[in-house]
Amino acid sequence: MRRKIVAGNWKMNGSKDLVQQLVGSVRSEAESLDNGVEVVIIPPAIYVSDVVAQAGERLMVGVQNVGQWSSGAYTGEIAAGMAKDQGCTYALVGHSERRQLFGETDDEVAAKVESLVASGLVAVVCVGETLEQREAGRAEAVVAAQVKAALANMAADQWGRVVVAYEPVWAIGTGKTATAEDAQAMHASIRQVLAEMSAPAESISLLYGGSVKADNAAALFAEPDIDGGLIGGASLKADDFVSICQAMPASTTS
Ligand code: PEP
Repeated sequence: MRRKIVAGNWKMNGSKDLVQQLVGSVRSEAESLDNGVEVVIIPPAIYVSDVVAQAGERLMVGVQNVGQWSSGAYTGEIAAGMAKDQGCTYALVGHSERRQLFGETDDEVAAKVESLVASGLVAVVCVGETLEQREAGRAEAVVAAQVKAALANMAADQWGRVVVAYEPVWAIGTGKTATAEDAQAMHASIRQVLAEMSAPAESISLLYGGSVKADNAAALFAEPDIDGGLIGGASLKADDFVSICQAMPASTTS
């Protein structure tokens, strides 16, 4: 049975006030969800401990990025072990904004994944093609190469700490969403790539991200290989985020 996950990536947004308002509301609404969805809040790292303090038992917390090292002279970085120490369960890695704006390479993503899983966190490995790559018919090849590179160093007993988030770059923050059929096709392709890597592909959760909203989440989550969502903008409004969590049917995954 795959985990069903809805994770809210706040990006560089938020404040102590927002943590108070939003996490409290999401937590109380999440307590009445009966669809088995794991609800994750991923705030800027500086607010992690505030979110953890508000999250209670029902919400999980994550970080948006970690450095690849365990400690040392890396001013401004945080280590996977520190995120774990502060109560995080999840960490994003290789988000397209990190790849595009900060030049994060496949090798760095792989090193961060190694560090995360070794620290006992779940690495949410973000992959996705640009519009140019999709229009050139290269979307599946690009995503397959990202998956293989990011997960090249996984040991057989570490796959339980991996989630893959397919986020077409052209859909992030643009209001354009992949159709449920196109997203499903890519998720099936990613699962095939994982199987070829001798991963337990059927038990790895695959999330879709890219302008997921309350009104398109149900169609996406109904697809057999879409096990949840990574939500940016819509995770900053409690009602919208909770509606997306509610859109997860109880029997989506096998
Ligand atoms: C994201 O940042 O991962 C994301 C999917 O953003 P949005 O939902 O705003 O497109």
